Order: sequence, then structure tokens, then C-alpha cells
Amino acid sequence: MLTDLHTHTRHSYDAANESVAERIAAAKACGLRVMAVTDHVEVNRFFPAEYYHAAETEEFTYSFSRAFSESVHETFCAKQGLDGLILLCGAELGQIPQEPAISRVLYDDPRIDLIIGSVHELPGRADFFFLDYTRENIPRLIGEYFEEVLALAESGCYDILAHLTYGLRYMPNRAEIDLAPYYPVIDAIFDAVIRSERALELNGSGLKYPQPYTDPDFRLTERYYRRGGRLLTVGTDAHETKHLAKGLDTLEQMAREAGFTELTYFVRHEPIFIPL
Ligand SMILES: [Zn+2]
Ligand SMILES: [Zn+2]
Repeated sequence: MLTDLHTHTRHSYDAANESVAERIAAAKACGLRVMAVTDHVEVNRFFPAEYYHAAETEEFTYSFSRAFSESVHETFCAKQGLDGLILLCGAELGQIPQEPAISRVLYDDPRIDLIIGSVHELPGRADFFFLDYTRENIPRLIGEYFEEVLALAESGCYDILAHLTYGLRYMPNRAEIDLAPYYPVIDAIFDAVIRSERALELNGSGLKYPQPYTDPDFRLTERYYRRGGRLLTVGTDAHETKHLAKGLDTLEQMAREAGFTELTYFVRHEPIFIPL
């Protein structure tokens, strides 16, 4: 097991109340070589509700500004004097195209090694987790989702493009959805990632379920490689210590079968390669 570049700690609102130190102990125990802490910052809710002329709902009472400060401080301090594990300081920024200015400020924080860019929500909509799919036009929703991921891919404000197929994760009959009509926009996403020397993420958070899946699947991972993509990261998206590094062997094997001979991690936004 080489790298787990996508993990959440107590500084993510949806993760277990576990510290960076606990994650470090677990990472060392299982022989992980590189781990990044990447707590959530939904940049479209970075400021209080009044900034967005929005209602003061519960989702605005959570301070992503404070979460970012505390997560980065705890991780950056934990790096000092650490041996046997490369610890990277990161963040998972959601909805970068909706708040490019604050995203740039966070990206440029001198303590940050890597930024994961994610689309969890479309503008004005809830997280895909909360949508009522019986009321949605599914083909149109998928099209809008990939267009938003393309805007993210072209933003230049991330190092790792996260879970490419997140927008489909909670759709009914997900496995039967034909992605062929979306290949033109998916290829444009790949081209933008490749052109800007960023990495695609192979996200293994779905491997813990009875019907395991990865984001993206093998087919799309291979398509990215054939398109010329060579920067690939793997991550478990662990929200609890017990999920740290779980399924990394599967992700690494998938990467090899897709053609990759090395994985990537980032130090101060510079790609570093590790043989597979
Ligand atoms: Zn995410
Ligand atoms: Zn995540």
C-alpha cells in the first residue's frame, strides 16, 4: 500500500471525531507510505449566509473557514519530526467554479501540499446525496454535472480532480447508466486535467459496500490513460480511521491494469511519482 491521498478527520462535518494523530498511528500500523489529510471546505458556503443573500439555514452555521484553519494547523504541526510516513497537508474544496477567488486564496496557502477539487453540488442545488431522483430529468442532470466538472477541470485551482462520477453515485440503477453520450465532455475533462498537469483521482470509498464500486470505474480510468493521462492518485475518502487504507490494493491493481506504472502525490503542488 503506497498512498492514501483523500482522508477526512474531526475537522470534516461528516467525519468521525478522530484526530490527525490517530490517523498517523493507523497509517504507520498498516505500512502506508504517504497520507494526505483533506478535510472538507465547501467554498460556496465559506462565508456567512448574508454574503450570498441566502437564508440563515443550518448549512450556513457551520464554519468552513474555521474547519480549514484547524485542519491545516493540526496537520502541518503533525508533520514536524515525523518519520516513517510522508504526511501531506491538503483540503477537499467543493464547488471551486462557484467561488474561484476564495479557492485561489486557499490553494496558495503556503502550508498546503495538495488541493482536491470536487463537485458535490450544482449551483443553487443540494448535494447529490440529498436529491429526489424521482423528480429529476436524469440525462439532463448528468449532462449538467459533467459540465460543472469541466469548469472545475479548467479552473487551474486544484491538484487532484476527485471522484469523477460522484454525480451519479446516488442515482437509481447507477450501474446501468450508459455514459457513452457523455464521452465528449468527459474527454474534454480529461484533456483539461492532462493539459494543466493535474491528476485524476481513483476514489475507493465505494469499495466498502456489498456491491462495491470505484469513482471513476475501470473503464473511465483506462480511457483517461489512453487519452494520455499519466498523473493518477488513489484515495479511500476515509471518514473513519477504520476505513483508512482499505481497498488500496484493489485500486493499485486497477491502476496497473489500466496501464499506469506509477502513482502520483503532490508536495507543495509539485507532482512526485511513486512506482506501482
Ligand atoms: Zn468528495
Ligand atoms: Zn472526501
